[in-house]
Amino acid sequence: MIQIGEYTISRVEEVILDEATSLFPELGEETLAANRGWLSPNFYNEERGVFLTMVHSWILRSASHTIIIDTAGGDDKDRPLSPRFHRARTGFLERLKAAGIDPEAVDMVILTHLHSDHVGWNTRLAGERWVPTFPNAEHIASRAEVEARDPERGAASRPPASWNVYRDSIQPIIDAGLLRLVEGNEALLPGVSLFPVPGHAPGMMGVRVEADGKVAMFISDVMHQPLQVSYPDWNSRYCEDQDLARLTRAKILDQAAREGALLLPAHFGQPYAGYVRRDGDRYRFEPVETML
Ligand SMILES: [Zn+2]
Repeated sequence: MIQIGEYTISRVEEVILDEATSLFPELGEETLAANRGWLSPNFYNEERGVFLTMVHSWILRSASHTIIIDTAGGDDKDRPLSPRFHRARTGFLERLKAAGIDPEAVDMVILTHLHSDHVGWNTRLAGERWVPTFPNAEHIASRAEVEARDPERGAASRPPASWNVYRDSIQPIIDAGLLRLVEGNEALLPGVSLFPVPGHAPGMMGVRVEADGKVAMFISDVMHQPLQVSYPDWNSRYCEDQDLARLTRAKILDQAAREGALLLPAHFGQPYAGYVRRDGDRYRFEPVETML
């Protein structure tokens, strides 16, 4: 755990996924060979020749608040377009409870963006219905994301199978009156604020926690792998707006290096978070020493 002011930062894991190296179209054999030494074994598996992608929720706890940042892929969801998340059973909820988090006691869920691996545990299957997993939590999402995913608005031209995420994980939250739309740059609580990180997804937001001269930045999918700290121009094949994703990544790396901020991305392998250090005219990733 890491402490920043009144907040304790921890995480609850859902799954670890193998990710083909085609995640980065620009990655060649030579570059991979030059970096394997520091990537293996936490970020890259030598035997299988794949990157390791974590899917987890970040937890922020204080005496008065329990906040979940992103809700992973979820159980029982129909995901014909993402076989890895299709009708999954991951034990996430049990792990959350074992970590001392009562779903009823969660008072805020921050959804950095609305891709399927970030909103799944918004709901759980109760009989035939999707019901909120965190029934007492305000769920915070950016207006741009909700508009882009709504089958009757921005997502109308996308294939109907892609609407499942909105229908089973967003609409029930709206119906329960639990969704609060934001613009992506709000102060939420003393020391906790949102900042825009568009590109990978149109309305993606980061979460900044700041106290006593320490800064933590939850940067969602601005980077998928620490290799992108060394190669900031590389986008993952999941990035929706390639140019904007690059611009945002450059800005965040510069800011993190200048501020000495702890970066907590959504998918980095153990120890899951770290710092960005300047190394000549490049950047270097320095994993955090605390176990999260
Ligand atoms: Zn993601």
